[in-house]
Amino acid sequence: NQIEEVNFIEILRGIMLMYEDFIQQKRVMVNTDWLKKEVLIKVDKDKIKQVLMNLIKNALENVNNNGKIDIKVGYTDENKVFFEITNDGPPIPLEIKEKLFTPFLTTKSNGTGLGLAICKKIIEEEHKGKIYLVKSDNTGTSFKFEIPTSND
Ligand code: ADP
Ligand code: MG
Repeated sequence: NQIEEVNFIEILRGIMLMYEDFIQQKRVMVNTDWLKKEVLIKVDKDKIKQVLMNLIKNALENVNNNGKIDIKVGYTDENKVFFEITNDGPPIPLEIKEKLFTPFLTTKSNGTGLGLAICKKIIEEEHKGKIYLVKSDNTGTSFKFEIPTSND
């Protein structure tokens, strides 16, 4: 469990490369406005990678074929770093919405239901940040997390 200063965008770029084939097969358009930025954060790199993988995987599993994924990275008013991912696709049912971050909650036949629970532990317990569902309606589903730029 090692905290180091990293360029968040570089990590994100690496994760996106892992999903490149899947993105092409599903013909998903990914907005990459964030690509040129440098966003420095002090984090446990492997843990943050895991959060990004879980959120991006969920978006790719749920986005429509020929659909769109929008990723935004930036700073909040409180100078925290935020990551927000939006996919179009069917909205999350109400009864699922209420328990999204609970371990073992899944709607997939082969899902573990651990992805979001792990994200919550990493972001909120290990990085003093927040993670939440921004919206899930007919315009799409957005998840967002925010973490302090330094650990002190
Ligand atoms: P798993 O992916 O193994 O099912 P997660 O904790 O990652 O577990 O997600 C829990 C559930 O939340 C999913 O089964 C799905 O129903 C819903 N969900 C998560 N992300 C999305 C998303 N981007 N769009 C729609 N539903 C989602
Ligand atoms: Mg998942």
